Amino acid sequence: AREQLAAFAHVEPRTRDGKLIEVAANLGSLSEVDAALKAGAMGVGLFRTELLFMERKVLPTEDEQTAIYTELARAFAPRPVIVRTLDVGGDKPVAGIEFPEEENPFLGWRGVRMCLDQPEIFRPQLKALLRAAVVGNIKVMVPMIADISELKAVKALVEECRTELRSQNVPFGEIELGIMMETPAAALTANELATEADFFSIGTNDLTQYVMAADRLNPRLVKLNRADHPAVLKAVDMICQAATKAGIWVGVCGEAAAREDLIPEFVRMGVTELSMSPASIARAKKRIIEL
Ligand code: PEP
Ligand code: MG
Repeated sequence: AREQLAAFAHVEPRTRDGKLIEVAANLGSLSEVDAALKAGAMGVGLFRTELLFMERKVLPTEDEQTAIYTELARAFAPRPVIVRTLDVGGDKPVAGIEFPEEENPFLGWRGVRMCLDQPEIFRPQLKALLRAAVVGNIKVMVPMIADISELKAVKALVEECRTELRSQNVPFGEIELGIMMETPAAALTANELATEADFFSIGTNDLTQYVMAADRLNPRLVKLNRADHPAVLKAVDMICQAATKAGIWVGVCGEAAAREDLIPEFVRMGVTELSMSPASIARAKKRIIEL
């Protein structure tokens, strides 16, 4: 059965009525790139940069990050590589960042909230991504957006980074700037966010835990932590409708993106990109060409 499935790794995932769905990989390090390409990844839909920061004793520099993002982009060029800016918080310690003790780390100072408060950490990452965009198709994605002011602040910071690179005579490329849709507030204000974002990527893992008010790590709450709950699917639908109306593309990069029972729902709602662990890619493509 495994060999039969492997036959679908490199098919073009187009529905019977002709809609092409990008099937991309979720990666956390460069060591996974070869396996992802072999598995049929049409790009990277979510590169989690947390590991780059967590596996070491000091923060990675702008140059170190530029080298990593450049290698990643080159491996997939001209296909897109979506790099998510640092998404750590009190539950994921990083040497070099001091986190306060928090009662509720999942509701705390994490993701874009922390990054905007610490531009000395955020800025080198954004500059490295702009620099890597010279050689590849880099898209930047911001996690944990809950308010449009956060997206506007990130855009302003990116603009400052461009100005800085220009004055340093350092070459940089064009990037699209999109956001993770993973808070209920983002879903409820998707129409407004769609006017400022280049794309949406739905993080069903966090969206589910926040919509259902059920900690995603608590084993007692698995019955509530369901991405196929009507409340979660309603939020996904709102996000898709806002994206469609504004003319931006929308993807799914949470675990639910690989679910054979949910892929038809997502495609029906207007999702055009699904990003998942490489091991799920062949099965997802098979599901798409049946639709
Ligand atoms: C998500 O929340 O669905 C997601 C893809 O991000 P992470 O699992 O890294 O929080
Ligand atoms: Mg998340």
